Amino acid sequence: MDWVRQAAIGWSALQSIHSAQSNTILQHPWRSLRCESETFPHLQRRLTSVIHQHQVSSLLSSLPTRESTRLLSVSGTGAGAFLTALPTSSQTSFANHELDLCIRLRLGIPLPGPSPSCVCGYTNDTFGDHFLTCNRGGEIQSRHNHLRDLLSSILSSTNCSTQREVPALNVHPNATSSPTNRRFDLIIRSGATMPISADVSIIHPTPINTRSLSRYSASQGSAALIREQTKRRIYQPLSTQLGMQFIPLILESYGTYGPAFASFLATMSRRASSSSSFCGFGNTSLAAHLLTDWRRRISCALQKANARLLQLRMLRGSVDPMLRDQRSRIDFGQLRLDNATRFHSTLYYVQFCLF
Ligand SMILES: [Zn+2]
Repeated sequence: MDWVRQAAIGWSALQSIHSAQSNTILQHPWRSLRCESETFPHLQRRLTSVIHQHQVSSLLSSLPTRESTRLLSVSGTGAGAFLTALPTSSQTSFANHELDLCIRLRLGIPLPGPSPSCVCGYTNDTFGDHFLTCNRGGEIQSRHNHLRDLLSSILSSTNCSTQREVPALNVHPNATSSPTNRRFDLIIRSGATMPISADVSIIHPTPINTRSLSRYSASQGSAALIREQTKRRIYQPLSTQLGMQFIPLILESYGTYGPAFASFLATMSRRASSSSSFCGFGNTSLAAHLLTDWRRRISCALQKANARLLQLRMLRGSVDPMLRDQRSRIDFGQLRLDNATRFHSTLYYVQFCLF
């Protein structure tokens, strides 16, 4: 293939001419393609991959830390699965205002309306980064419980038995956990295999805190990995003591999975495809279908929960300070909102309470 050889020579010449220029595609070492051989399998894919990788690295290096971290997180496997889900059930259907907030979060567009403030006093939360981490109120816990229940439902469909919120002392009265009220989000049992204890957690990879943001920006999935390690330190010894395998089920709020969660889902899809309930006999395409379906359901649940969290927090931040800490007593008639906003906020509030 003379033209490839000629192109490689031309590439080297361009590199020598433009060596002073940094941050260009010419920095890529074409030599790795071994032009001396006669055949180049998947050459077009490899060349376009070089161009795409260069464009991605150029883009990431040109952005502020928050934006590059967000881009890495939203591009993780399964993070955008909610965008391909058909609205065939309430689980995968989005109200307009929910989808609006999900897209803003994904694309890094500021939250709608005047600059929102939190009930804790934090102001100017332009992108919702504080809302997605602040522990005031019950929204973070509600989101966690929603994901936990969905995972329990998915696992139950694969012939596993699941228990939710199990105190360690209920597993074995001699469990020496510290503190002694330690609970497992899920305990999963399946046949003769070792029981699995799991902790569900969602971490926001672009927090306001610059020190945390710096740690999470190291690479794709860094935030989930750090949370995973924290959970292992807390729950692994206790689980081992109780004869269980511990798996941290960590999601980043943009949708990227922690490595243990991603591996666990893939394993469970393969196991389910072999089970009699799916009549799959280890069918790999069935396993892939199950995995895709689960990722879509998890992604939809996460993004809808994010949207509801953001909307409720924006609403609470606009309520009179005397009322906003008392979520159950909010009188929507006292909000200084126009009628349309009040109507949609009331609808949303009712949805949240039923959620
Ligand atoms: Zn706050």
